Amino acid sequence: MFERRFLPVVVVALVALLVLVTGLWAVDSNRQSTTEVDPSGQPRQIVHNWKLVTTWPKNLPGLGTAPENFARYVNEMSAGRMQVRVFGAGEIVPAFEVFDAVSQGAAEVGHGASYYWKGKIPASVFFTAVPFGMTAQEMNGWLHYGGGLELWQELYAPFGVIPFAGGSSGVQMAGWFNRELKTTQDLVGLKMRIPGLAGEVFDAAGGTAVRIAGGEVYTSMQTGVIDAVEWVGPYNDRTLGLNEVAEFYYYPGWHEPGALLEFTVNAKAFAKLSPDLQAIVRAAARAANQDMLDEFTARNNESLQQLLQAGTKLRPLPDDILALLYEKSLVAMAKLRAADPRAEKIARSYDAFATNVRAYHEISERAYLNARDKVLPPVMPEPVD
Ligand code: CA
Repeated sequence: MFERRFLPVVVVALVALLVLVTGLWAVDSNRQSTTEVDPSGQPRQIVHNWKLVTTWPKNLPGLGTAPENFARYVNEMSAGRMQVRVFGAGEIVPAFEVFDAVSQGAAEVGHGASYYWKGKIPASVFFTAVPFGMTAQEMNGWLHYGGGLELWQELYAPFGVIPFAGGSSGVQMAGWFNRELKTTQDLVGLKMRIPGLAGEVFDAAGGTAVRIAGGEVYTSMQTGVIDAVEWVGPYNDRTLGLNEVAEFYYYPGWHEPGALLEFTVNAKAFAKLSPDLQAIVRAAARAANQDMLDEFTARNNESLQQLLQAGTKLRPLPDDILALLYEKSLVAMAKLRAADPRAEKIARSYDAFATNVRAYHEISERAYLNARDKVLPPVMPEPVD
C-alpha cells in the first residue's frame, strides 16, 4: 500500500533521477555538440574563439575582404557560438608564416595564397595559379566538381591543415614595369616581384624573380629594389598605389589567369566543432570565395579608368614575349612534375579538366565574347600617351 506520507520522498527521488539523467545527457552531448548546461539548468553554447591570420595588410580591399567576410559570415550564422577575429600580416605572425601558424595551431584559420608555400610544398602552386592555366570559372569547376579540392586536402593533410577555396581575383594583369617591354631582351636583368611557378618562368626568361609580401611591394618599387611588380589587377593595384611607382601597366596576366586564394583551417580545431558549425565554416568559405570574384568584377574596370586618367600607360605584352614565357612555362612545369610525385598526380587531374573545359569554352565563353564583339561597338580604353 502506498502511504501519502511517502509522497514527498517519491517526488524528491523522481526529481533527483530527472536531474541525474539530464546531467548525463548534457555531459554526453557536450562531447558531441559543444553544448552544456549551466548551473541554473539552462542550455548554454560554448563559444569557439578563432583567430584568423592573413598574408594581407589589415583592411586591404579586395583580397583582404574575403577574410573579413568569412569572419562575419561565421559569426552571424553561428549566432555567436563561434567568434572569428581577423589579424593582418604582422599582427600575430608575418605574412609568410601564416601556413605554419595554422599548421601548429597558433591560429585556427588562415587566409593567403597556396603558392606562397611552394618552398615547403612545391605542388601547392596548382591551387593558386598555373601559367597559361585555368580561369577563375574553370578553377572553381575543377575544385568543386572535378576532384581538385580533394587533391588539395590530401596535399595539406600531413600538415594538419584543411584547405578551402578562398576567393579568386579573375584574370590578373601582367604587372607594373618601370620601362617599356618591346622584345624578349627587355626581360633580361629585370628584377620583378612575381611569386609561384611564374617566378621560375620569369627567371628562365632572363629576369630575376623576387618574393615580397603585399605590404612591401610599393616601397620595394619606390626604392628601386625591384623594377617590376605583379600584384593583382586595377582595383587592388590602385589601392596599393602602384601607379605612383611605375609607368607601364601590362596585360594579360599570363601567369595568373584565375588566381585563387585559400582559407586554411587547423584540422584539430575543425574536428572540435559540432557538425553544424563545421557546415557553417564550409559554407562561409564557399560564400567568401564567390564574393571576391563578384567584387573584383564590379570594381576592376572603374579602377582601370581612374588609372588611365591619372597617366598610367596601358600595354599588351608583345607576342614574342608571351611565346617565350609559354615555352619557359612548359619547362618549369615538366621540372616540377618530374621532381615531385604529388605534383605529377595533381597535374594529371588539372590537365585533364583544363583540356575538357577548354573544349567547351571554345564554343561557349569565347564564341559568345567573339559574337558580342561583332555586334557591339568597341570598348577598349583609349591609350593615354
Ligand atoms: Ca598576382
